[in-house]
Amino acid sequence: MICDKSKLSVLNLNVHYLEGPGRVIKAVNSVSFEIMGGESIGIAGESASGKSTLGSAIMRNLEPNARIIGGSIFLDNIDIVNLADTDFDREIRWKKIAMIFQGAMNTLDPVFPIGEQMQEILRSHGVEGSLQNRTLASLDDVGLDRSVAKMYPHELSGGMKQRVVIAMSLLLDPDILIADEPTTALDVLVQAQIIKLLKSVKIKRGISIIIISHDLGVISEIADKVAIMYSGEIVELANSQDIFSNPKHPYTQLLISSVPKLDSKGTIVSLKGQPPDSANLPEGCYFLSRCPFAMEMCRKKPSPLNTASGFVLCWLYE
Ligand code: ATP
Ligand code: SF4
Repeated sequence: MICDKSKLSVLNLNVHYLEGPGRVIKAVNSVSFEIMGGESIGIAGESASGKSTLGSAIMRNLEPNARIIGGSIFLDNIDIVNLADTDFDREIRWKKIAMIFQGAMNTLDPVFPIGEQMQEILRSHGVEGSLQNRTLASLDDVGLDRSVAKMYPHELSGGMKQRVVIAMSLLLDPDILIADEPTTALDVLVQAQIIKLLKSVKIKRGISIIIISHDLGVISEIADKVAIMYSGEIVELANSQDIFSNPKHPYTQLLISSVPKLDSKGTIVSLKGQPPDSANLPEGCYFLSRCPFAMEMCRKKPSPLNTASGFVLCWLYE
């Protein structure tokens, strides 16, 4: 559904981490995409492909050693990359763009009841009036009993805590909600309930959700369009239907056809081989070493090629 909510345009964004003398991790490379008000996008890709860094850059919540070294993030007509911190905090953070961080449900304050933590968010953003009523209404919105307001985090299940985190992120009625791995660490049944909740939030409020996940199943439930990331680049962007029915990039094809599983260290691996070192990216296509269709020309960098609903970064379609 397209509505009068804010539009987000990310243009040629580059984010690096400075990781000690001479070592620069190129986490997000020339990323561009756009979502209209109320439109949702899924950001998919293996671990370390730059998904969380991209989300944190949009939320201006990057680690101290991260630098946006180029590009723009337009919220309507304002480039939020260049906005002063005070202006971003006053006008944008939580009010226009909110984020559910990875593992946020484990960072609820153990010392205060849920209702008080929620009221504190409202207070710190200068909201006046009956904070308690607003908090209780928010709990209703995410399907939690009002008695949860008086409870402490340790009294709640994982699914309830994740609902609290979603309620908190929606307290200031944002136009865009970034949800970073919102179902990870929950059991399958609870995952399905959280996805259902996010879908209903999207429909009822008409907001955009940027859903970040390694799980294409989760993304397919919520996103109108999908960006597939590899080594910090978007290698394919398309609407959800096209990406699942007619994936073009060889990496997208492998990602869709492979079933993610855990390796011995508990890391999610979905296909054979490793991406290149982000501090030492090759000159040509970053997927070359794992691509079943690699050709001589792939040693040169491909350029984005327009497709029916987005673009693909691959010489096969030149
Ligand atoms: P995951 O699914 O595991 O969260 P991701 O796709 O979200 O992965 P990012 O967490 O954005 O990927 O990481 C992108 C790259 O940046 C990786 O190579 C990662 O090791 C690196 N990185 C992330 N945070 C830092 C940091 N604070 N300092 C240095 N490098 C970092
Ligand atoms: Fe494979 Fe070449 Fe396409 Fe890269 S550009 S994905 S190596 S075919």
